[in-house]
Amino acid sequence: MVGNIQNFHGNKVEIVIEDNSKDFVEIQAQWATVRGRIRQKIGDAQFKSWIKVISLKDCVDRKVILSVPSAFVRTRIIEQYLDIIKSYWLVQNLKINDIEIVVAQDNKKSLKKNQSYHETLDSKNKERKQDDIFSSISSDLDTRFTFSNFIVGKPNELAFAAARRVSESDDVPFNPLFLYGGVGLGKTHLMHAIAHEIKNRNPLRRVIYMSAEKFMYYFIKALRFKNTVAFKEQFRNVDVLMIDDVQFISGKDSTQEEFFHTFNALIDQNKQLIISADKSPQDLEGIEERMRSRLGWGLVADIHPLTYELRLGILQAKEEKLSARISPNILEFLAHKITSNVRELEGALNRLAAFSSLVGREINLDMVQDLLKDLLKSSQRKVNIEEIQKKVSQHFNVKMSDMSSSRRSRTIARPRQIAMYLSKNLTSRSLPEIGRRFGNRDHTTVIHAVKKVEELRNKDNSFDEDVQLLIRMLES
Ligand code: ADP
Ligand code: MG
Repeated sequence: MVGNIQNFHGNKVEIVIEDNSKDFVEIQAQWATVRGRIRQKIGDAQFKSWIKVISLKDCVDRKVILSVPSAFVRTRIIEQYLDIIKSYWLVQNLKINDIEIVVAQDNKKSLKKNQSYHETLDSKNKERKQDDIFSSISSDLDTRFTFSNFIVGKPNELAFAAARRVSESDDVPFNPLFLYGGVGLGKTHLMHAIAHEIKNRNPLRRVIYMSAEKFMYYFIKALRFKNTVAFKEQFRNVDVLMIDDVQFISGKDSTQEEFFHTFNALIDQNKQLIISADKSPQDLEGIEERMRSRLGWGLVADIHPLTYELRLGILQAKEEKLSARISPNILEFLAHKITSNVRELEGALNRLAAFSSLVGREINLDMVQDLLKDLLKSSQRKVNIEEIQKKVSQHFNVKMSDMSSSRRSRTIARPRQIAMYLSKNLTSRSLPEIGRRFGNRDHTTVIHAVKKVEELRNKDNSFDEDVQLLIRMLES
């Protein structure tokens, strides 16, 4: 079902269609079950009004696409039922990582929906056909991806501030704004938030948000129908152009060329550009040098891997919006264990909430271990005690052998305690085993070390930063 653009040489375009039909049968079965569960939960009346009208349209990669008859229904479903659909689906199939709701194409109302985003614009400029292109070319924005739903901490404060600044300025504060960071750290969320905010402030501003893949898809289509001029014109008439995940453009020479021209034209006209990628401009592979350097001209803001505090903050904020209660110690547990990205944190939380509401009681830690077995395993770093001892002794400039020696001076004992603490937190080794590896010490010594380090981390900022740095080095 999915159109994969593969070879791309000049005008020759090959689109490979994957056969997902078997998988789709399974997805259909899952959808039937999900609907059944929701019906039990919300009752027949609500079900008939809101859920029955949804039809399963497609499943692309790991995203399920559901279609509804009108924009009104879509909004309502997103606000009220999307989370529950997601969580029930997760119980069925852990691989699904997103659900998109679209308004049925064959329904006339779908046109209405597309227009509503640029409604004021359309009414002002009825004669201009171009606006239809704008509304259809820009991807839907997720209504939950707003600034107010974005939790800010050290790792993302620069990106957040830059995003706010761009959306609040009437002029162009820096161009382009280049946001980068690993998967699931909030780049798309911030871009949608910028679009929402700009739209709220001034509905007349023309904002296009799209993935780099979609950009390529349109470009290739334009090439096929030999109307690349019109293609360029569309983009040259926007106020703000956002291209998400620009790393996917790399390597495709003529798309890059086109992107570069469009990009330059927009910058010359003082239009705001916002680009996201998984790497910094310098580190993007397969991108021409002049393109790379131009991408770095404006403000480059990165989102760092999340800290424990930020992970916990995000979990707490998300928990408040759930119907089921998840206890604070479980949130802390998740923040400790799931370190890779926010998407996984959300996934874990939704799954727990879904389970809790299905069985009708509160979740405890044992259940969590069981329910999230796969997630906890995959995010378990393959760090071992020896590595920890090595890194810690390098960091504090002590001998590796002192990790197991009996010397007790503070300069040696403290690093040793930190290494024990990290062994407890980053590996699945038991306390007695950790003790053994540190010169046959008793498990109570390990407990003491863990407590001590925790205490110091809470008290002493620079100590805490040291430990965080070590964790980051060991995790990467
Ligand atoms: P990226 O585009 O960087 O891969 P996304 O923007 O898609 O990541 O974020 C993944 C999920 O995590 C989204 O559901 C998003 O709302 C959520 N998320 C990411 N960062 C934050 C944050 N700081 N506060 C709240 N939610 C966040
Ligand atoms: Mg993204």
